[in-house]
Amino acid sequence: MDKVTVVVPCYNEEEVVDMFYPEVQKHLQKIPDCQFEYLFINDGSRDGTLEKLRALAKKYDAVNYLSLSRNFGKESAMMAGIDYAEGDAVIIMDADLQHPPETVAEMIKLWREGYDDVCGKRVDRAGESFLKRTFTNFFYLLMKQFSTSYEMQRDVGDFRLLDRRCVEALKLMRENQRFTKGLFTWVGYRKKEIPFEVRPRAAGTTTWNFFALFNLAMKGMTSFTTAPLRLMTFLGMTISCLAMAYMIFIFVMALIYGDPVAGYPTLITVLLFLGGTQLLALGIIGEYIGQIFYESKRRPIYLVDEMNGTRMVYESVLRPAERNTK
Ligand code: UDP
Ligand code: MG
Repeated sequence: MDKVTVVVPCYNEEEVVDMFYPEVQKHLQKIPDCQFEYLFINDGSRDGTLEKLRALAKKYDAVNYLSLSRNFGKESAMMAGIDYAEGDAVIIMDADLQHPPETVAEMIKLWREGYDDVCGKRVDRAGESFLKRTFTNFFYLLMKQFSTSYEMQRDVGDFRLLDRRCVEALKLMRENQRFTKGLFTWVGYRKKEIPFEVRPRAAGTTTWNFFALFNLAMKGMTSFTTAPLRLMTFLGMTISCLAMAYMIFIFVMALIYGDPVAGYPTLITVLLFLGGTQLLALGIIGEYIGQIFYESKRRPIYLVDEMNGTRMVYESVLRPAERNTK
């Protein structure tokens, strides 16, 4: 009998959490020799999600929940789930039923065949705005150019099954600025992608807006590659060379042809161009310093307020043996 933990991060999902368990369990109970337990992470919801989770945990033995002390963001909520999950494998699913539970049977099958990280790959990005798609493409393109040591998986999100090996490896990475997608890639092991179709949200609204996604992309970039810094060095060298060539050009024009090259327009163009690149370079350096700033504080990734009805103290996060399990 395999034990599998389904980790479900929830933020303001009161309209869907009730639906989630019966709907998913309906499909999962058909999988042979597998015992599923659910671990819902309430990521500081402002609505009735926590009350609903409390009721669910009372009603069903297989349901556990963790409630974080405030909203830490999906990346941190997933980490909490990964830390507390006890199964031989962990499946991460969104609470809004966008990840089809039918796919799980296939995931389990592949896991039993020896894959450590079975990731759901979206087959279409329909239903997403043109702008979102364009930026997503651009992001993948940049990441592909920049990261040399490993390739970021395309259209692969957080819907996946992780073997205990991957789970333990992920637990070692305590960085604060989490770009989980990159971390999954970083750990390696045997990966297998399986296609799935993203469903529309069962209810409620998405919490991701353009800026949240942009920030995530920046985080992904700065926490997985220093290539932009290198690029700036390269740009600096190129501009210096161009400036040198231009200087020679002016010299030649003045000495041979006696042409006093117009001062104001050329000066202002060069000045603005240089000013712009300098600000850009500073901005990029700033992004990395920002990362160092956050990481050097070594703050915990999340704090647990309550688990299955018990008030938690931070230390108990570090001592799994003392955790309250039902
Ligand atoms: N989520 C979370 N914390 C947050 C934002 C989102 O735990 O701060 C959860 C949310 O409850 C959902 C999942 O992350 O289960 C995906 O969020 P959403 O459906 O809003 O994103 P989308 O599917 O549009 O990418
Ligand atoms: Mg969603």
